Amino acid sequence: MIVKTEAIVLRTMKYRETSRIATLFTKERGKISVLAKGARDGRSRLGGALQPMNQVGVIFYMKESRDLQLLTQCDVARPFPGLSTDLDRMAAGMAAVELTDAVSPAEEPNSELFRLLSATLDAVSRATKQPGNALYYFELHLLGIIGFRPDLRLCTVCRSPATPVRGGGDVHLGRNGILCAGCSAKGLGMETLSQTALAVIQRLQEAADPTSATRMVLAARVRGEIAGVLRRFLLGHVEGLRTLRSESVFSSML
Ligand SMILES: [Zn+2]
Repeated sequence: MIVKTEAIVLRTMKYRETSRIATLFTKERGKISVLAKGARDGRSRLGGALQPMNQVGVIFYMKESRDLQLLTQCDVARPFPGLSTDLDRMAAGMAAVELTDAVSPAEEPNSELFRLLSATLDAVSRATKQPGNALYYFELHLLGIIGFRPDLRLCTVCRSPATPVRGGGDVHLGRNGILCAGCSAKGLGMETLSQTALAVIQRLQEAADPTSATRMVLAARVRGEIAGVLRRFLLGHVEGLRTLRSESVFSSML
């Protein structure tokens, strides 16, 4: 069967002398591995567009009995020219792509996740202020898509409204959301978060798209808090997420 669909390239690896194997997150078929014969030959039309983070239009031959499908066409469908202009953007884009890879089983389409990833890469590419904020938006909404939307209004333990701590003190967090004062006092919290960081996460959760996140200007301390909390939520729910390749690669470069 010939399949024509849009896809975001998650990763690629060299194969034999001139070919490449790529993992694609396709709109219509979910995650698919394809063989691109001759893709590393400089004259190949397949190779140019087949790069991680690219959103491409592809045609491949699909045979259900096979793990690897044969790619015959690949062209850039939605360019993200800004993604490769600096390390922050590349790291944010790669983290979104690797998280998508980690949560996606083979051949299960997820149009909501496809839209989220595409919009995130676009927001990171176009951002003029803080491109990395789009990754926080992505992570927060990814948690929702996989069924673990963090609760930031009601206590995650007893479901009573978690009213702001008096005097602007830190709020306590449980496994997947906020704790009320009563549950915090019982020592059920796993970590604390400043009121400022909580307010930003609530805004990100309610924002309509990742572009609005890149327009926020957040202090480094707040960004650090948000990144840490989201990473802990994700680690609790996504298998095999101990180290994202993009993080280890980029932290060793910086
Ligand atoms: Zn409670």
